[in-house]
Amino acid sequence: MKLTHSLIIFVQVLVLTCASPALAKSPQKPIIQSILDDTYQKFKHEESGKNADYIPALAKVDSTYFGLAVATPHGEIYTKGDVNQPFSIQSISKVFTLALAMEQKGPQIIVDKIGVNATGLAFNSVTAIELNKARSVNPLVNAGAIATVSLLDGKNEQSKWSVLSAWYDNFANRKLSVLEDVYESESETNGHNRAIAELLSSYNRFYGDVDINLAVYTRQCSVAVTTKDLAVMASVLANNGVHPLTDKRLMSSENVSRVLAVMTTAGLYENSGQWAYQVGLPAKSGVGGGIIAVSPGRFAVAVFSPRLDGAGNSVRAQQAINFIAEKLHANIF
Ligand code: GLN
Repeated sequence: MKLTHSLIIFVQVLVLTCASPALAKSPQKPIIQSILDDTYQKFKHEESGKNADYIPALAKVDSTYFGLAVATPHGEIYTKGDVNQPFSIQSISKVFTLALAMEQKGPQIIVDKIGVNATGLAFNSVTAIELNKARSVNPLVNAGAIATVSLLDGKNEQSKWSVLSAWYDNFANRKLSVLEDVYESESETNGHNRAIAELLSSYNRFYGDVDINLAVYTRQCSVAVTTKDLAVMASVLANNGVHPLTDKRLMSSENVSRVLAVMTTAGLYENSGQWAYQVGLPAKSGVGGGIIAVSPGRFAVAVFSPRLDGAGNSVRAQQAINFIAEKLHANIF
């Protein structure tokens, strides 16, 4: 009886290892690298969509950039294409700011003061604030994200920013800088975000000074990252909160699960449901053209390609991640 049981387990392990060779550590390297190479070839001529232009500096970015990176919980990094080209992190920053707010204040404050439901509406929707009694409903759309900044510790812009930027640096495992031209460009044109913050403030769903928190939010969106940085940053989420390159715990595992849950409900805005249905990985996009996706315990992937669809999600990054996730049998559902 015991022997039969052991035999069954042995066979199960054998089947699992053979069926998902990318799961085993040693053969992973050639497999993931060749998947990235294939993905690059398959989508290198994709030209659908267009750069964001409501932030003038983003319209000027070369639309042809295409970078792919995967980082694993073992600290392995695989890359293909323009992976060292800096670009603005934009809304992908919201994931890491949310993580900091949770670590500083505990996860319940996000439920109570921001919300964790999907809006199903555009990332900068004012209608979402008016439609929902709770007003802000999710930390990954602009309203909830700017309000999340207002929850962070820090008396003034400088003190908030120094904690937040050091927090991002920990995830990237290097000192990140700000693209000042993007910051200036967005600061000059962010009347819409200001209106959102003022509106939330009028409903007592904003927790500090509008000017200060809007400036910090705009700065966080202007942080320069490479595709490789994003994969490394997201690999902390894939590794349950411990940085694969430093072995330092940055987040509690409970908070990682919650951040991944919110990425699933709103990471790609009004297309989040379709993304979950098709790809099945928590993900987050930014109008700079980056997208990260996380396969818990297995890998993080980042893709950069500036042309966006109507929801503000990179067209080619979605296609590439979908392809990579299929090849790695990564759908969590
Ligand atoms: N900084 C941008 C904004 O506030 C971020 C939007 C995005 O990446 N979806 O509009």
